[in-house]
Amino acid sequence: MTGPEIPESHPRYESLLTRHRIEEGVDLGITSKQGLIAQGRGEAFDYLLGEETIPSADAAERVAAAHLLAAERPVISVNGNVAALAPGETVALAAATGADIEINLFNRTDERMERIAEHLREHGAERIKGLAADGRIPGLDHERAKVDADGIGSADVVLVPLEDGDRAAAIAETGTTELVVDLNPLSRSAKAATVPIVDNVLRAVPNVTAHAEDLAGADEAALAELIGSFDAEATLDAAEERIRSGGPSCDRLT
Ligand code: ATP
Ligand code: MG
Repeated sequence: MTGPEIPESHPRYESLLTRHRIEEGVDLGITSKQGLIAQGRGEAFDYLLGEETIPSADAAERVAAAHLLAAERPVISVNGNVAALAPGETVALAAATGADIEINLFNRTDERMERIAEHLREHGAERIKGLAADGRIPGLDHERAKVDADGIGSADVVLVPLEDGDRAAAIAETGTTELVVDLNPLSRSAKAATVPIVDNVLRAVPNVTAHAEDLAGADEAALAELIGSFDAEATLDAAEERIRSGGPSCDRLT
């Protein structure tokens, strides 16, 4: 899935590719209309961040990789935007970390669940969770609480790209270590996270994979040290500072 008429040399290639994939996701019945709105909000923040992985996000991505590798039951949560934007990248991250993939939708319909599962299978996913929906996240209303009991329901570490703030907070309440990808450092999702990754999911997921591959030989103590030295608040502050100051690449945006 690539942008048909977008030359890679275009200065905003990635942004246009992202739009194209989301539009295609809506056409395929994978992405919801609300997903388009979430995309628009994300795009604005990405523009302000300079449409690049800032150093604090890269550091968070390495810590997220360490969490996934150190976990006993890691799960990557996939919604309609993530499925449209980074299906193959998500499958590659699951393979690199031994994580399960679970489909978890804000607006859950059986049809959309099935379409996303099919789309992920086309991109190489073998086992997909989320369809059983035999577990619940406490503190959420019925539909939004649904998870698989042997997936997010009993995971020790969950990567949730673009999670809704309410649900991110409810998952954090259960004591599960939560790794959140969200371009808005002020969002409740990012604030609820053990590890907030303020980056575009399109860049973040492959970069977590690259870090996981790099850390594959690391022992438990090395992973624990990386994990223990992480400061979530400082990470959010660094992203906010980049947005407010324009950062080193602000000239690119004028
Ligand atoms: P809350 O404050 O409760 O977290 P929200 O307003 O952030 O709520 P939504 O609008 O549903 O809730 O969330 C969409 C979020 O997803 C936004 O914060 C947006 O920045 C982020 N987002 C959208 N597209 C991407 C993307 N491609 N990569 C990373 N984050 C994205
Ligand atoms: Mg949010």
